[in-house]
Amino acid sequence: MASPARYAVIGNPIAHSKSPEIHAWFAQQTGQQISYERLLAPLDGFEATVRAFIAAGGCGANVTVPFKLEAHALADQLSDRARAAGAVNTLTFTNGRILGDNTDGAGLVTDIRVNAGVTIRARRVLLLGAGGAARGVLLPLLAEQPAALVIANRSAERAHALVAAFRAGAQGCDLRACGYGELPVQGQFDLVINATSASLDAALPPIAAGCFAEHAFAYDMMYGREPTIFLRFAAQCGAQVRDGLGMLIEQAAESFRLWRGVQPPTAALFQLLRR
Ligand code: NDP
Repeated sequence: MASPARYAVIGNPIAHSKSPEIHAWFAQQTGQQISYERLLAPLDGFEATVRAFIAAGGCGANVTVPFKLEAHALADQLSDRARAAGAVNTLTFTNGRILGDNTDGAGLVTDIRVNAGVTIRARRVLLLGAGGAARGVLLPLLAEQPAALVIANRSAERAHALVAAFRAGAQGCDLRACGYGELPVQGQFDLVINATSASLDAALPPIAAGCFAEHAFAYDMMYGREPTIFLRFAAQCGAQVRDGLGMLIEQAAESFRLWRGVQPPTAALFQLLRR
């Protein structure tokens, strides 16, 4: 019997990554013969780790903190969404070449639109944060054609830089940037997406309760056992809330589809991972 196709997730640290369990489950559900391992790369040894994995027969890899920018630089060829994101979370090794893609934004949009059943098209969206995660989801979010997308960030100039970089892809969407102090107190946003890392420090981005429109939907890219402080605040403001576990699952599903040409099911995985 042929040995299974080898995949890995590369990061530092890496022990916490749920990706091996997720991909093993996808493989089981779809009957694909793969192996998927965690690879701890030294902070100054990302490229060497990737090349050693390719030499050992690796077919592809997910890339996580802090190597997504290095993966972007290392790829011989980039997808449009990876180029726009300026970061790569999925590498495919084929015919001696390294292909770079970014599935984070697709994961977020699928989780909001399909899993949560929330429409983005023609809605007013507030994106909090202007770091790597915000940049990575902008192109797929704009492709959904929201009526307006406002990027608010602590350092307003980073939000303005994102707007300048993505204006061409805005296609009729009112795309703007601001600092938190410039946000309207009654902003009436239908979707508020927290792409800051504030939740890691149990901090709340300084937004007013009035930012949430009636029947608003709030999404925190972070996930954990308990709702984040942002999701608790949003729920108090009357919003429907959702954490980023589905984004993690759906970005993995998109990587698996790219590698194996098969769309894995995801619904039952939520309960397994919540446990
Ligand atoms: P970065 O370090 O690139 O950016 C951090 C962002 O958070 C910046 O905009 C920063 O503002 C802002 N920020 C940090 N602390 C605060 C605070 N106390 N108040 C307000 N803003 C703050 O991080 P990433 O963009 O890579 O990641 C952001 C989050 O997204 C993380 O929590 C990460 O876990 C999550 N994520 C989840 C994924 C998933 O699959 N669910 C995938 C990818 C990311 P400033 O520019 O002013 O410093």
